[in-house]
Amino acid sequence: MPTEELKDLAAKYLMQTYARQPISIVRGRGAKVYDMEGREYIDFVGGIAVNILGHGHPDLVQAIQRQAAQLIHVSNLYYTEPQVRLAQMLVDHSFADRIFFCNSGAEANEAAIKLARRYGHEKHGADRFEIITMKNSFHGRTMATLTATGQEKVQKGFEPLVPGFAYAPFNDFAAIEALVTDKTTAIMLEPIQGEGGVHVADHAYLKNLRELCTQKDILLIFDEVQTGMGRTGTLFAYEQLGVEPDIMTLAKGLGGGMPIGACLAKDAVAAVFTAGTHASTFGGNPLACAAGLAVCRLLIEGRMLEQARRMGDYLSKGLADFKDRHRAVRDVRGLGLLQGLEVEIDAKAVVADCLTRGVLVNATSERVLRFVPPLIITQAEVDRVLDVLSSIFNQRTMAEKDQQH
Ligand SMILES: *Cc1c(COP(=O)(O)O)cnc(C)c1O
Repeated sequence: MPTEELKDLAAKYLMQTYARQPISIVRGRGAKVYDMEGREYIDFVGGIAVNILGHGHPDLVQAIQRQAAQLIHVSNLYYTEPQVRLAQMLVDHSFADRIFFCNSGAEANEAAIKLARRYGHEKHGADRFEIITMKNSFHGRTMATLTATGQEKVQKGFEPLVPGFAYAPFNDFAAIEALVTDKTTAIMLEPIQGEGGVHVADHAYLKNLRELCTQKDILLIFDEVQTGMGRTGTLFAYEQLGVEPDIMTLAKGLGGGMPIGACLAKDAVAAVFTAGTHASTFGGNPLACAAGLAVCRLLIEGRMLEQARRMGDYLSKGLADFKDRHRAVRDVRGLGLLQGLEVEIDAKAVVADCLTRGVLVNATSERVLRFVPPLIITQAEVDRVLDVLSSIFNQRTMAEKDQQH
């Protein structure tokens, strides 16, 4: 179907929740995607940090094809092997002892929130329910997770919000100390705020949070939905930040594109989720878990993590150099293949310019470009994206200068 026709039908039949770029993507290969008209794009969005193996990775395709032919879904009334194997793989390579599987980041965070509340109730009584989250955070779009999200624009119009949340500025330990009370059951944050514009948590801040939480039996929840699965160069970002959480959530990269989420926890915490306390019909189905297993095998047993680390270094050096050459760049932030560029020109216009030059990038706001390419991105592809950005920045800063004269 021609793109214009598709746009018209989408305008007619879909709820208008998304501001989409004006292309229709029909296939992908590696870190490239192709639109309806056959134009090629370097994919520096990767399905929003989801397609960590790029597009059409043979191991992932084969795992999904095989599992689809064998068994797609039976519910959690029965045992299925891919779910247990994926759980074992994640436990073997993380701080966690047990996993609950679901289908998305928001759902993983819902599980974490429920787990923290139940833990508070069982260990300390019914008054222990409050969760402190960060301003500018992002945890999802369900009622509890949009309440956890410290951004007014996500909450506006959906009041009343879920009670029991308090908010602190990111990287401000004193603000947390001031908010903690006997009611506090958890502190929840992203080790790197992704949607909020790529802000990395300080090591000292995290260390202080860990100590405070341990001392008061408050649960430390890391939302690694975006930072997990090799994005930052280690399997999980917390490994580089020197602090282990009590609960961690994953989604985005976990299935390499298949919808899957996970809530991971230590034994003592996970124990409060007894039979019947939480559930998800699709959660941990064999198809999604087979995809997750293929992703984990490549990351853990293959060379994908090394590749991610190398390319993360390459991209962050490239962006640091880019900043030196372009005065419109105010800041470069991030870790590994999660990088943000804070700019003084219109970031959304840069996104549109990139699109016409065959590059997909994303802006988290008017001023921040975010780069979350697949982990299989090549140096040549990174170079090409930086070249395209360079010419766009030159043109845009020139045009702005002309306007001033
Ligand atoms: C994307 C994201 C979510 C929400 O994930 P969904 O799958 O869209 O529900 C939650 N937390 C973080 C950190 C994210 O980046």
